[in-house]
Amino acid sequence: MRELASHVWPRGAERGGAGELMLGGVDVRDLAQEFGTPLFVLDEADVRSRARAFRDAYADAGASWVFYAAKAFLSVAVARWVHEEGLGIDVASGGELAVAMRAGVPGEALLMHGNNKSMAEVQMAVEYGVGRIVIDSFEEIARVAEAAAQAGVVQQVLVRATVGVEAHTHEYIATAHEDQKFGLSASGGAVEEAVRRIAKLPSLTLVGLHSHIGSQIFDAAGFEVAAARVVALAQRIYDEQGIEIEELNLGGGMGIAYLDSDDPLDVQEMAGQIGDIVAKACAEYGITAPRLAFEPGRAIVGPAGVTLYEVGTIKPVELDHGQVRTYVSVDGGMSDNIRTALYGADYTITLASRVSEAEPMLCRVVGKHCESGDVVVRDAWLPGDLAPGDLLAVAATGAYCRSMASNYNYLPRPAVVAVADGGAREIVRRETVEDLLGLDVAT
Ligand SMILES: *Cc1c(COP(=O)(O)O)cnc(C)c1O
Repeated sequence: MRELASHVWPRGAERGGAGELMLGGVDVRDLAQEFGTPLFVLDEADVRSRARAFRDAYADAGASWVFYAAKAFLSVAVARWVHEEGLGIDVASGGELAVAMRAGVPGEALLMHGNNKSMAEVQMAVEYGVGRIVIDSFEEIARVAEAAAQAGVVQQVLVRATVGVEAHTHEYIATAHEDQKFGLSASGGAVEEAVRRIAKLPSLTLVGLHSHIGSQIFDAAGFEVAAARVVALAQRIYDEQGIEIEELNLGGGMGIAYLDSDDPLDVQEMAGQIGDIVAKACAEYGITAPRLAFEPGRAIVGPAGVTLYEVGTIKPVELDHGQVRTYVSVDGGMSDNIRTALYGADYTITLASRVSEAEPMLCRVVGKHCESGDVVVRDAWLPGDLAPGDLLAVAATGAYCRSMASNYNYLPRPAVVAVADGGAREIVRRETVEDLLGLDVAT
């Protein structure tokens, strides 16, 4: 129970002399004391090393850009870290763009997504010089063209193609059509039509095609069908319109380990396999291999983040077969981690403030919200002497936890603290009830 699986916990995680969890050389008890709980802790060296690993491995595989998918978690500090390590940033709203701008990330390193970008967001992107805007609908072609013409620039765009592949962990489903809101159909002629329209607009220039097939993917199999379909599409576009697709952005979705038993392909291997898959498809369809681009989010920040909670109440509940399940309530919950309730996600949790030799007990770690579905970890073995005031740490919460956080029950959202070389600094401060009351303008 006290062991920290190295593929689940941040690279700088270890146990100190009293069994306390140390992150980036900092005792989590000190973090809780100084910054309060619940608390998101992000290991800076871990984020940086993953960003570097992606940049290097995917450059070797033929990528000219790796864009960090900001929606996983974005703050000014994180934007700077990943950009300093050679990554661009994929933003999907004016708000995410504003963070990247404040971090000083230059436009050429940015790419903008979104299936319903507002005119204001498009204008903001064009005016800042965002290097690539990914076209997601026919309406948007006109909008981006107009914004670029107004700004007196030629905007580089990609067209997002949906290829009928949905990939998740070890499984993927390939269909002829894609029943979802993103992009334009690769099979029904919509992408070709978009390319035709873009070619006629002097304020737009097409640089490539985009395809994103899913999330939490553990192997390259799903990319195989997707890449073949996008490459076939590129060949049709070349044959019919004489337009060469120079850049192929295959999106993100590279999976991480949440549990000891999770075993995603390592970065280097995944990159190599995807590179080979694209090269093979290009050879097969007789097209020049395009530059590649990728957009990992979870795999950059997910494993680097840990959530600290304080135990508040402990309630043994007798089950049907005389078994006991102990409900352990912590001081956060679905407002800082919605993934368990939303996707049935599983997490690794450990006693973080001390060591215990007590017999383990079966626990359900729950939040403090007014919902029975407010679960942090469904089934966890924690020491039988667990007590109020103990600190619990949940691993791999760096992605899609703070970024999806809410104020349910009027809970202020937790701070995010960066740890590095034995020091800690707040990079996003804790919200206060005053912050929230400031939004309520009734008199
Ligand atoms: C969500 C998303 C990503 C990042 O996905 P991860 O699973 O975090 O790697 C990349 N590109 C697009 C278009 C996305 O929607």
